[in-house]
Amino acid sequence: MRRVHLHLRRSRRTQKTLNRTPRKLFDHLFRVLGPQGWWPGEGPLEIAIGAILTQNTNWKNVERAIQNLKAEGLLDLERLLRIPQERLETLIRPAGYFRVKARRLRSFLRWLQAQGGFEPLQRRPLSEVRDAFLQVEGIGPETADSILLYALGRPVFVIDAYTRRILNRHGIEPGKTYEDYRRWFESQLPRDPQLFNEFHALLVEIGKRYCRRNPLCDRCPVKEVWGPPTGLENPVTKDT
Ligand code: SF4
Repeated sequence: MRRVHLHLRRSRRTQKTLNRTPRKLFDHLFRVLGPQGWWPGEGPLEIAIGAILTQNTNWKNVERAIQNLKAEGLLDLERLLRIPQERLETLIRPAGYFRVKARRLRSFLRWLQAQGGFEPLQRRPLSEVRDAFLQVEGIGPETADSILLYALGRPVFVIDAYTRRILNRHGIEPGKTYEDYRRWFESQLPRDPQLFNEFHALLVEIGKRYCRRNPLCDRCPVKEVWGPPTGLENPVTKDT
């Protein structure tokens, strides 16, 4: 008898998780929050630079660094590669970890120059370009996928800490790795770059507004479609 109850409880839980589909969540968030207008940057080079500079810092700091580059007329691949490393470090200093980031930026720019710029990358198979990105110093999967999606318009789903947190708090753990999470979204959604673009931006917005360390579940639109979180012991409804 106890076995039957356990089985029923488990299958109800499975059923609930099955109802938590990415498509339902996207449709609801898009309806409630509307288009997010990402990525905040003009042209693929600025977007790629932003994706590298945003590692471990907030977007305000990245904007200040990009503004410095813009003010010097340096949002240009060739010109940017010609300035001394120290100058680059000074200009991107507001983004933090400026020495490491200047080195990473230069590695990426040199690599990009060797490829002949962004255009030839558009024509290469997605998995090939992604693997090549991941070989560049300091380009991890989140940065690579941000550049692929937002600078090149290729259909890859970007996973960040907010996305993992939202899924986990709703009892969804597709696996341990970045790739497990990426596949979870990509296998259940049409490979549409515009959809991926909006969806990632919407999840970031949810993370910033509601799914903080102390989540604001009462007001969060995710709860309206996926139900209350299951992965939280004591959800706190006040911001910190
Ligand atoms: S309902 Fe709560 S746990 Fe779920 S995404 Fe919103 S804030 Fe996070």
